[in-house]
Amino acid sequence: MIRFDGRTAIITGAGNGLGKSHAMLLAERGANIVVNDLGGSVDGSGSSLSAAETVVREITEKGGKAMAHGANVTKADEVADMVDQAIKTFGAVDILVNNAGILRDKSFAKMELADFELVLNVHLMGSVTCTKAVWDHMKERNYGRIAMTSSSSGIYGNFGQSNYGAAKMGLVGLMNVLNIEGKKNDIRVNTLSPTAATRMTEGLLPPAALELMTVESVSAGLAYLVSEDAPDRTILCAGAGGFAATRIYETPGIYLPPEQQTPEGVAENFERILDPTGQDMYTDGSSQTIKFISAAAKHFGIS
Ligand code: NAD
Repeated sequence: MIRFDGRTAIITGAGNGLGKSHAMLLAERGANIVVNDLGGSVDGSGSSLSAAETVVREITEKGGKAMAHGANVTKADEVADMVDQAIKTFGAVDILVNNAGILRDKSFAKMELADFELVLNVHLMGSVTCTKAVWDHMKERNYGRIAMTSSSSGIYGNFGQSNYGAAKMGLVGLMNVLNIEGKKNDIRVNTLSPTAATRMTEGLLPPAALELMTVESVSAGLAYLVSEDAPDRTILCAGAGGFAATRIYETPGIYLPPEQQTPEGVAENFERILDPTGQDMYTDGSSQTIKFISAAAKHFGIS
């Protein structure tokens, strides 16, 4: 059985929806929980500690251990205070679930830059700020489990969500690098791409569909991503009891000799460039550079 006894988890945006469900599940399985929530509306306006406090009450009533913190994830001083208080109260931070988020949807043509920046700030910089605040602590303890929360809007795109999509795909890039940098200290970073019925998705799908999309089904996947035996650099997609992994593959591609290294050469060979036969997954950027250099070196007979 997957348990979290003695572990402490900070879950951002845990006053509602998915974050609340993650908090309830991890608490039920023995983790001490820091329930973080700014307590604003879906578009990020307003604030109140009451959503976080309500979740703390629900956890403690069931015999679990939790504390509330109203840090705005974009404010480094408030996040630092949250991490300090978590360590003072529970002794350490083992798990960070970057879940807090807002929406400011509009087509790109109509979107104000301020709404673009705010959404990037909460999702991407909020996750960076919270991760930065626990990173050295996790490194010193040689243990850390971190989850980012992405979205199919970022991975595949959704009309009206250029700000959100950019932030959500940015989190995948952040995850990739942090896995490389955290590996020797057993810090494993994964990404959840959820789809669930919450106030964020209210009214977007028929009630019968939303009924299937329980937050609890998604939290099962999240719990595995931050468990002792967690994978790393995995994008786990979860919704309505369905689980899948998004993976980034690269086609083998082709080598074009110097005389064909022209826009026309690329156009004429485009089908071969796109051909997925034998495609590969890389775990760092230099693997791709090596592939390209090796092909060119072979052409010129350089070993
Ligand atoms: P939700 O609105 O119910 O929960 C988000 C929580 O984040 C709220 O309680 C909010 O107060 C909090 N929050 C917002 N800004 C904050 C800030 N600056 N600091 C601290 N807390 C803040 O929405 P949800 O559906 O549970 O979404 C949770 C996460 O899952 C989000 O990152 C969202 O983008 C992502 N997501 C959700 C779905 C879905 O289908 N519900 C799909 C893809 C991704």
